[in-house]
Amino acid sequence: DPTTQHETVDSYVASHLIRKNEGLDHAYQNSTNQGLPMIAVSPIQGKFTSLLATLSSARNVLEIGTLGGYSTIWFAEALKGRGKVTSIEIDSHRRDVAIENLRFAGVQVPDEVDVRLGAALDVLPTLKSEIEQGQREPFDFIFVDADWDNQANYFDYAVELSAKRGVIYVDNAVRNLVERESFGKGDPKDATDLVARAGKDDRVDAIVMQTVGAKEYDGFLLAIVK
Ligand code: SAM
Repeated sequence: DPTTQHETVDSYVASHLIRKNEGLDHAYQNSTNQGLPMIAVSPIQGKFTSLLATLSSARNVLEIGTLGGYSTIWFAEALKGRGKVTSIEIDSHRRDVAIENLRFAGVQVPDEVDVRLGAALDVLPTLKSEIEQGQREPFDFIFVDADWDNQANYFDYAVELSAKRGVIYVDNAVRNLVERESFGKGDPKDATDLVARAGKDDRVDAIVMQTVGAKEYDGFLLAIVK
């Protein structure tokens, strides 16, 4: 069973390359205890995205979809002392749990992580005008991990909120694509799809990577804003 092998390899890799971290462990556990769904990134994905943020020398990270703040803690630790994460969450209970988890992990809220409550499509225009008015710097790493129906809309905003050479990472881009009924049938509605949209956008250079792992088959879109 290939799934079992993906899981076995993931646990083997995690056991060697992911150090024990009380804050992250607590975030997983406390989120479950408080009734949040188990849809956070896996430890391996969390570390992978935090390494990418470090690689891009990010100082201002934007996350769309906080849940219990698990991925947020990974970013906050990658940025420690040199930056700030802004994370958007629509659900107030989830936002409260995230703040609790972040504080337990030793992250300063709102100095190191600011969790904004609201629908991303309402909060993103506010962030955009704050950047335009010089009240905040553009983001240099943007992690999109919220409702799949809006992936392409979040991507458009991400491009506008990004610094030059900023990185955009859209999680679950592959499952969102292949689970569409229209996928592979040449449906003209493909124009609303993230991958088609990114391909037509001259402001970015993008690719999609398929992945396997503890969360089975999926993949992400990675883009650099020119
Ligand atoms: N990034 C988190 C992690 O890995 O720990 C997981 C995020 S979870 C997959 C997606 C989150 O997006 C949910 O908590 C959900 O409530 C939130 N969400 C859904 N629709 C949203 C919207 N329109 N605006 C903001 N957040 C939204």
